[in-house]
Amino acid sequence: MKLYNTLSKKVEEFRTKTPGLVTMYTCGPTVYHFAHIGNLRSYLMEDVLERFLAYEGNEVRRVMNITDVGHLTSDADTGEDKMLKGARREHKTVMEIAAYYTEAFFIDCEKLNIKKPATVVPATSCIADFIAFVQVLLDKGFAYEAGGNVYFDASKVKDYYCLTGHAAEALKVAVREDVSEDGNKRGKNDFVLWFTKSKFDEQELKWPSPWGLGYPGWHIECSGISVKYLGEYLDLHCGGVDNIFPHHTNEIAQSEAYLGHPWCTHWFHVHHLNDESGKMSKSKGEFLTVSLLESKGYDPLAYRYFCLESHYRKPLTFSFAALDNAAKAYKKLIARLAALSPDKGAPDEALSARYRADFLAAVGNDLNTALGITLLYSLLKEPASDAAKLAVAADLDRVLGLSLIEKAALLRASAQATAGAGGASAAAGGEACTGSEAGSGSDGGDGVDRGDPEVAAIEAAIAARAAAKKAKNYAEADRIRAELAARGILLTDTPEKTTWRRGEGK
Ligand code: AMP
Ligand code: ZN
Repeated sequence: MKLYNTLSKKVEEFRTKTPGLVTMYTCGPTVYHFAHIGNLRSYLMEDVLERFLAYEGNEVRRVMNITDVGHLTSDADTGEDKMLKGARREHKTVMEIAAYYTEAFFIDCEKLNIKKPATVVPATSCIADFIAFVQVLLDKGFAYEAGGNVYFDASKVKDYYCLTGHAAEALKVAVREDVSEDGNKRGKNDFVLWFTKSKFDEQELKWPSPWGLGYPGWHIECSGISVKYLGEYLDLHCGGVDNIFPHHTNEIAQSEAYLGHPWCTHWFHVHHLNDESGKMSKSKGEFLTVSLLESKGYDPLAYRYFCLESHYRKPLTFSFAALDNAAKAYKKLIARLAALSPDKGAPDEALSARYRADFLAAVGNDLNTALGITLLYSLLKEPASDAAKLAVAADLDRVLGLSLIEKAALLRASAQATAGAGGASAAAGGEACTGSEAGSGSDGGDGVDRGDPEVAAIEAAIAARAAAKKAKNYAEADRIRAELAARGILLTDTPEKTTWRRGEGK
């Protein structure tokens, strides 16, 4: 696939060290609070990327850390430890907070169909590895001890700003103007590898080290875990754009100093989700979480659809009005798929191959997920059988992860149950259309809104009746016809198709 690389600042062919195998590292959440839906936008797009690489036929080895120690409120080396802050807020221990919010994070991920990476590593499980890493940096002359802490000496690295590409001075001012400098640092870009009790005496979690009782800096966690679990060469490193500096910049500096050679070849960064007033943050106003969306009646997958409709390399502004539009479009898409009958026709290899190729080209062009969704709408208009269309939708959904087939099946089943129970009454009127028995029901171009769940339910009932007839279950077919008639939906069978119209209900 072609993918933008923050390191080269170009869209380029994504290549891996070992063809067919992708080593992929994701900066995981800092588990001091619930993830907001902005954080989840990053994880969601990373999930689609992983799925796409697998869809292309690669084996993807993916590792994610859980930051349960060392991440300070400033992202640089000042401020409070975020975990400690969370523990204080909730009168719990740091490990209790970490366990609770790690679980909450993966529950949110599951609701959004974000797959859990095969390897998830809490930073606190790798302390010995970080100590060994820091020791190598000291031995190689890339680090120094000062005021009880161990610092990385950024001046020893040739191209510290290789990832940002910004002029060094401009960046320092932009990022650090409100941050008081640590007097122990020899240079402005130096960063802490290991804190000791000389700083943050209140720190709850501390481990013995050659430099005293203390804890690791945030940046060393990702380098240490990545090298430990994915080896000396990494194909793909992911995060949100705020991670580019200083976190990923520092990861590159220390990893390459440690390894003695270039480390990660491709850097993938997801732009931020903002609310209408600016950057999304956990401390501002209404804290936007998956649970909050659910409490307002949204299907979490409508949020996934919302994210997939826009490109990961553009900032995305969240509003409930925009989410409403996405939710409506998602619901219509499901309704149109529900109106297709899996029993009608069979998967069509030629159609599947054509769509697979188009999808690979579309989404393979810098993860253009919106174009991937557009293909679903083209598919619905194909002069193909229902089963053939459903097979293609299922295939593309391996990457999109919208639960299209499962949701459509549920809607179909509930429509059949409604038809069976003679449920909701239909509005009277003269509307008429072609039933799906003729294979043209999903997009007949006859002015009937098949995105309307009620229309979809009628068409699903007609499809169920057709399936019953095909199975020579005439009693069931008659029952469905009678149930529809009871709701004022009258069917007319011709040799080619079944049409329906709204007549007089009983
Ligand atoms: P954190 O839990 O703060 O370490 O952040 C977890 C992930 O969310 C990181 O990859 C961040 O880059 C990313 N992130 C933070 N804020 C946003 C946002 N508003 N939109 C998208 N991603 C974000
Ligand atoms: Zn990281």
